Amino acid sequence: MNRIIRASAPAKVNLVFEVGPLADDGYHPVNSLFLALDLREDLTLVAGEPGSGISIYVHGDTLPESHINSVPTDHHNLVYKTAILFAQKLNKPTPDLQIDIHKRIPVAGGMAGGSADAAAMLVAMNEFMHQEHGTTRLSIEELAAIGAELGSDVPFCLYGGMAIGTGRGQIIQPLDALPMETHWLLCASGKGLSTPTVFHEFDEIGNHGSFSDLNSFAQVSSIAELGSKMTNDLEPAAFSLMPALSDVVTRLEGLGAVRAMVSGSGPTIAALFESKAKAEDVATVLISEGLVALTASGLAAGARLDS
Ligand code: ATP
Repeated sequence: MNRIIRASAPAKVNLVFEVGPLADDGYHPVNSLFLALDLREDLTLVAGEPGSGISIYVHGDTLPESHINSVPTDHHNLVYKTAILFAQKLNKPTPDLQIDIHKRIPVAGGMAGGSADAAAMLVAMNEFMHQEHGTTRLSIEELAAIGAELGSDVPFCLYGGMAIGTGRGQIIQPLDALPMETHWLLCASGKGLSTPTVFHEFDEIGNHGSFSDLNSFAQVSSIAELGSKMTNDLEPAAFSLMPALSDVVTRLEGLGAVRAMVSGSGPTIAALFESKAKAEDVATVLISEGLVALTASGLAAGARLDS
């Protein structure tokens, strides 16, 4: 029987997302403080029949069907691209694979769902190629270098925890954990926002701030202080594209969130609460109104093999 390799990787929120003006290379430099949440994508990998290629099955029971159905299952899926690139890097032919993705991270929601899948796939492929082809397992730094070619958030999803991301977000400097756990309510939108569209809107608005020293977060000692330090330069662009998002932020803060903010490029709103119980109570209220509200805590571990 074929061995099953299981891996998982976390969602991220950006506690701080500072974005500079568009550079000559076509990218925006960012200064980001990432936090990994225990909302994880689970991925399993088994060898396919010889000649069958790569098949991908995506499912989930906590997200709207529209999210699951919008994930490509062909060569456009980031996991497919990860398999091809990883084999190429090892100078091996792409193996035949059956891949199962259990999705929990809102799709196109600014929480790095596709990047988490790619990170889980890198860890799974590292083990698969070692077991099947005897290749030497790559280090996390080597996996992160491959991940950076797949997407700016992939390296962070490999490391997890809390970290500063610079460059396009792919240069990771891990930080010590905060002295307390953080509890979140994530209000997902039925419709996604494309990251490039949000950056384009950001350029139109043209309100670029300066970069701050994110090492100061090491001194944060309370949830209230953490909430007061959260910022996202992309929030005005996300509000401009989806004006209803600012009402969600106001509502969540009215319901007791210490701070609610657009997550990354949105449209998911990440709301920070003093306790898990409070986040869950507010999620129950939103769900009863037909909204998609998930809860999660951080920080969480990066991509890893699971038994
Ligand atoms: P980020 O926060 O990293 O900018 P995101 O969370 O906003 O990303 P994703 O969920 O990664 O967005 O999806 C962006 C698009 O990528 C989707 O609309 C989908 O078409 C495509 N995609 C490719 N592979 C995947 C995957 N494995 N999971 C989700 N989306 C994928």
